[in-house]
Amino acid sequence: MIKEKISIIVPCYNEQESLPIFYKEITTLLEKINIDYEILFINDGSRDKTLNFLKETSEIDINVKYISFSRNFGKEAAMYAGFCNASGDYVAVMDADMQDPPSLLPEMIKMLEEKEYDSIATRRVNREGEPVIRSWFARKFYQIINKISDADIVDGARDFRLMKREMVDAIVSMGEYNRFSKGIFGWIGFKTYWMPYENVERIAGETKWNFWKLFKYAIDGIVNFSQVPLNIASWFGMIMTVISFLFLIFIVVRRLIFGDPVAGWASQVCITIFIGGIQLFCIGIMGQYIAKTYMETKKRPHYIIAETNKKDVEKIK
Ligand code: UDP
Ligand code: MG
Repeated sequence: MIKEKISIIVPCYNEQESLPIFYKEITTLLEKINIDYEILFINDGSRDKTLNFLKETSEIDINVKYISFSRNFGKEAAMYAGFCNASGDYVAVMDADMQDPPSLLPEMIKMLEEKEYDSIATRRVNREGEPVIRSWFARKFYQIINKISDADIVDGARDFRLMKREMVDAIVSMGEYNRFSKGIFGWIGFKTYWMPYENVERIAGETKWNFWKLFKYAIDGIVNFSQVPLNIASWFGMIMTVISFLFLIFIVVRRLIFGDPVAGWASQVCITIFIGGIQLFCIGIMGQYIAKTYMETKKRPHYIIAETNKKDVEKIK
């Protein structure tokens, strides 16, 4: 028997169809590995029978713990609640829809046991079944964020990973309101092994993501982990000032040589609109950062727990 205890954190939002399948698979597997475990389900304000399933299951299985939010706070908040309350020496995050194959776990546990790595993370090596345009944007996003931030994020990285206690404590200490876990995992460092696997389709229910939500998520990730967009705004400002100065010299010289023919109305309008556009764009970039700062300064809780079967849980955090 492995002496460490493992906590499996499972964020669930309307997963009544997938949960029974997931629960069965994961328990069979963990029993087989012969490891002490808890499965910590976070019910993220589901509107279906997810909570009923969790309550019933926890009554017959002492290894099942659940935390139920007062409303839908999002997967990031659910994962944070999991990290804050997981008691294991090893902690894993897994989706309830079987897209994070439980069959990878034994190998991941074995690798952590060998002590060479602090964390085993997973990445999908193919994006089959995904719209082409979405894959393209996803790939660009990873290229950009790796160039402009400290958070090193691998293309195709999933949230599914197994970590040691030290790493979990570091994640819990990052109490920011705007959470982007893929960035946080990379930012805290530690030795991570990236385990590749073939993409798996969702077993039941439907994804909570659409293109625009993903696009917003990508922008959030960049704003949370990089100041480069702000620098771009300043550079735009400087370049524009230089150009306008050159233009001024040009106009003065032309006036001295050719007199003052009234012309150029159209070009004037183009220039005004162009500069106006750039100004608004830069203000927009600043706005993104101000909005994040605003939310951070409010110090609102990440989540509110309505009920749980776990002891000593901070209800509002
Ligand atoms: N999830 C959650 N809160 C949300 C949205 C999703 O807890 O607001 C959970 C969901 O139940 C699932 C995991 O996060 O276990 C991943 O969600 P999904 O399968 O929709 O994302 P995808 O796999 O398509 O990226
Ligand atoms: Mg999924």
